[in-house]
Amino acid sequence: MRVLITGVAGFIGSHLCEKFLDEGHEVIGLDNFLTGSPDNIAHLFGHPRFKFIHYNVVNFLYVDGPIDLVVHLACPASPVDYLNNPIHTMKVNSLGTLNSLGLAKLKRARYVFASSSEVYGDPLVHPQREDYWGNVNPIGPRSVYDEAKRFSEAMCMAYHREHSLDVRIARIFNTYGERMRIGDGRVIPTFIQQALEGKDITIHSDGSQTRSFCYISDMVEGLYKLSVEEGLVGEVVNLGNPQEVTIKQLAEIIIMLTGSKSRITYTEGRVDDPRRRCPDISKARRLLGWEPKVDLEEGLLRTIEWFRRKCYGTLR
Ligand code: NAD
Ligand code: UDP
Ligand code: UDP
Repeated sequence: MRVLITGVAGFIGSHLCEKFLDEGHEVIGLDNFLTGSPDNIAHLFGHPRFKFIHYNVVNFLYVDGPIDLVVHLACPASPVDYLNNPIHTMKVNSLGTLNSLGLAKLKRARYVFASSSEVYGDPLVHPQREDYWGNVNPIGPRSVYDEAKRFSEAMCMAYHREHSLDVRIARIFNTYGERMRIGDGRVIPTFIQQALEGKDITIHSDGSQTRSFCYISDMVEGLYKLSVEEGLVGEVVNLGNPQEVTIKQLAEIIIMLTGSKSRITYTEGRVDDPRRRCPDISKARRLLGWEPKVDLEEGLLRTIEWFRRKCYGTLR
């Protein structure tokens, strides 16, 4: 396949791009480096089946030649990033989604959208199944992300219904691993950095809120299957690891795995921070034959090792 990946220089995009190249496909990657980095794809420059376009997906997309699959990942994903870029976040999930859908329609390509567990907001149903409609504050600060993802999902379904486009929606739950940006504000890179530097671990609120963290290799496998398998037209699928932990437990695990002397401190909670989050992945198991393989401690060990080498050399 000839695949267009938007957001290719980001955390998930760069790993997914490698997967498509490893499986023998051709990838055209597009990114404007808002939250991603050329470092994440530098090793792919010169690859005979990889081409990079430095571009903002909010503008009209011109791509030469046939395209078989569009994967729209471009969007700041860390709450700190999207709260720093609120209007951009809405544009990339409206104009960006529209343009990439328009391109897919023109090229008669399949379309995969990277949605989020945030469409469930602060969920009143637990764990979250795909048929739950969510509990989102439409005017809260997080709405620039969660309402925008909901709008994008609606637009995907409109292209599916009106133009018979082969769309597939991945509702991605918290994912972590190598190539997350240190300082991006997401909980795992923040806690790892604090632990490695022996600084206080800053838990928001009382740390009883939960998340379910999926290691990157598992996420990439799920996204790849959703992209290439037949018989999934118009489907929306949760992708995530149902191993749920409190943020306090996460802090304790990271302190233990790094052997850090950091202490835990408690700071003010974020506005509209979801209290609990855990995917029901029965649909992914049934449709894709997929489930995560890497448990939290194993994935964290690999991630900590990578941050150690990348950011601290052999010092810590
Ligand atoms: P990321 O911030 O690392 O990557 C996003 C990439 O998109 C970056 O390289 C950024 O420069 C690029 N980008 C942003 N705006 C752009 C624009 N207008 N034009 C071109 N490129 C643009 O984030 P990530 O964690 O890799 O997330 C990728 C996708 O997965 C996002 O759509 C995100 O909403 C979704 N997602 C991620 C998670 C997670 O836990 N990582 C969870 C749910 C959903
Ligand atoms: N579009 C694009 N590149 C293309 C084709 C379309 O960026 O190769 C954009 C274009 O800006 C348009 C949007 O995608 O506004 C939706 O395209 P579509 O053909 O569905 O809508 P229309 O142009 O008919 O309004
Ligand atoms: N969090 C925290 N300390 C931090 C960063 C995040 O306690 O330094 C909490 C945050 O309030 C949320 C959880 O960790 O409850 C996950 O936050 P993250 O930004 O990783 O992603 P989210 O799931 O909220 O999109």
